[in-house]
Amino acid sequence: MRTQALNNTNLYDIQIERIAQSRVAEIDFNNIQFGKYFTDHMFCCEYEEGQWVRPVIIPYRKLELSPSISALHYGQAIFEGMKAYKDQHNMVSIFRPIQHLDRFNKSAARMAMPEIPHDLFLSAMTTLIDLDRSWIPTNNPDDSLYLRPLMFATDEQIGVKPSEKFLFMIFCSPVSTYYSKPIKVMLSDQYVRAFPGGVGYAKAAGNYAATMLPLKEARDAGFDQLLWMDGVEFKFAQEIGTMNIFFVIDNQVITPILDGTILDGITRRSIIELLNDKAYHVQERRIGMDEVVQAYYNGKLEDVFGTGTAATIAHIVEMQYGKELLVLAPVHERKLSNELKTELAEIKIGIRPDKHSWMYKV
Ligand SMILES: *Cc1c(COP(=O)(O)O)cnc(C)c1O
Repeated sequence: MRTQALNNTNLYDIQIERIAQSRVAEIDFNNIQFGKYFTDHMFCCEYEEGQWVRPVIIPYRKLELSPSISALHYGQAIFEGMKAYKDQHNMVSIFRPIQHLDRFNKSAARMAMPEIPHDLFLSAMTTLIDLDRSWIPTNNPDDSLYLRPLMFATDEQIGVKPSEKFLFMIFCSPVSTYYSKPIKVMLSDQYVRAFPGGVGYAKAAGNYAATMLPLKEARDAGFDQLLWMDGVEFKFAQEIGTMNIFFVIDNQVITPILDGTILDGITRRSIIELLNDKAYHVQERRIGMDEVVQAYYNGKLEDVFGTGTAATIAHIVEMQYGKELLVLAPVHERKLSNELKTELAEIKIGIRPDKHSWMYKV
């Protein structure tokens, strides 16, 4: 396979400046807060005159940037989030990096940003992870190295126009479980995350900026996340914060269809594929809250869960919808989603066969 042949090669002649003394010993790997620690090195590459130039791996450090760069003003910025795992034999693999790269490039296209060639992305990623492999935690089942590629506009000019210069970077963060407990969500009946023709399907920084205030209000009201509704009728479920949403009603699995307003989650896709393996046909369609509430009162709402790289599967235990508070089954009763969560975790650390070739060896 073409992708395998690239492993550990350095096609783009990435210049490497190693850290003098690793910081890894400072980390308590039994007590990792999500996204707080960053590994020894990071990757940077600049885009100018239509080309990616000067790929380097250097010690993780602050950047020097002009206050006039357009990303800071107009938000031309995108990112990705994926994970690398170490198996029992200390082999390191990344979960579905090519899918993430393709999505990164779709986000880039929507934001009028240049795409990253596959070879550059994979070469940078594998070289960086290899260098910082001692940072990959393995003490707990969800432990992994979170990989954060990002790109932003660096034109130093205040005028509003697509930038011509960009910086592409990758840095890494050792992580453990994201949500340590099941989550409570509130339906958003006032704010909208995405709408037809917008940028909902892109992992664009601005999508998140717009959710900070609603999220703060939801947290103040005692909830962990917001469930976004369609921006036209406020009737159909979209997704939750950083996760796609699945409903199990009367043994049928339903997830909102990708209509351009919803992020095309790699975990979502993986869960659909795992369900297909179990002969479940997942319904990808619009799902209205009236249907969910009705199923709840008929005792048919068996499960609701979110899927995303950070949390893998997060069970929803409470959903507030207007005056209704739907209290869902205790987590230990959610047989199907618990099974899926375990299967996915076991594939990632190599104790279950990787039938779909999701793991990409570093
Ligand atoms: C990243 C993200 C997801 C989950 O995607 P995964 O590829 O499964 O991590 C879902 N919704 C939003 C808004 C996201 O940014």
